[in-house]
Amino acid sequence: MAGEGEFDFIRTRLAPLTRGHPAALDLTDDAAVLTPAPGCQLVIASDMLVGGVHFLDTDPPEVVAERCVRSNLSDLAAMGAEPLGYLSSIAWPRNLAQAWREGFVDGLASAQQAFALSLLGGDTTAGPGPLTISLTMLGQLPAGTALLRRGARPGDDVWVSGSIGDARLGLEIARGTMPADPFLLERYRRPSPRLALGQALRGLATACLDISDGLMADAGHIAQVSGVRLELQAARVPFSPPARAWLAGQGPDGLVSLVCGGDDYELLFCAAPAQREELAALAARLDVPLARIGAAAEGQGAVLRDAAGVVIETGAGGFTHF
Ligand SMILES: [Mg+2]
Repeated sequence: MAGEGEFDFIRTRLAPLTRGHPAALDLTDDAAVLTPAPGCQLVIASDMLVGGVHFLDTDPPEVVAERCVRSNLSDLAAMGAEPLGYLSSIAWPRNLAQAWREGFVDGLASAQQAFALSLLGGDTTAGPGPLTISLTMLGQLPAGTALLRRGARPGDDVWVSGSIGDARLGLEIARGTMPADPFLLERYRRPSPRLALGQALRGLATACLDISDGLMADAGHIAQVSGVRLELQAARVPFSPPARAWLAGQGPDGLVSLVCGGDDYELLFCAAPAQREELAALAARLDVPLARIGAAAEGQGAVLRDAAGVVIETGAGGFTHF
């Protein structure tokens, strides 16, 4: 690496990110040694981000780091797990400015601060390719309680947390194709993983995931793995006030772009109708809005219907990587 050797970078920049966590052994050993709580299973999620593909070249390094950590935590939230720490593997382009790397580490530090998280290990290298970042997030939960995508049954309610489509609009703002709105931009740059909600849904939700590919695509994922059909009602999909204001100026395509836009990092889950009161109490206790947006039925796939019951064509729906 230019200007600063790899070992120096690990010692001066990365080692402080362990925050003295005993599992990290100050990053001086060959591997981390982690002890989960008694009776718990480890939950492990890995995410890879490639410059120019998963983030914009104009995104500040702090923002890239925050999005990496937060989206990875969202996968733990989707499983109902509590985070234990993470590993980072980074391939820096050889010509990357030192300031970019430092900004990236600052972003990791700030995300860690928000979630009391520690770096436990990883690897850094420099290469000829684009910036490539892989984070592996480790979490735990009581054995046998993980929220899976496969348990939805016909008759279950379909719920979603927070609001949908904000990050899609925030991305347009970051690209400079829409007027600035601090709330929407922040929803794209610093999504809030629903960790407390995910943990509280253990034993309540029959199926759960976090929305990264878009509401409709991810509803399709639950439908496929559970072997049910998800019937969603457009009028019940929750939108934030700025997203609502934007929608008011759009044709029907506006709604479709919000329900197919990705990066919401809200939880989409199914639960028996008998749980409605419990879920309402949970929403109040955690101060997380929960909207009941539809129901699971016999069949397959996910559809969105308008107030008259007519299916809204959403196309293939969602972000695909290939
Ligand atoms: Mg996910």
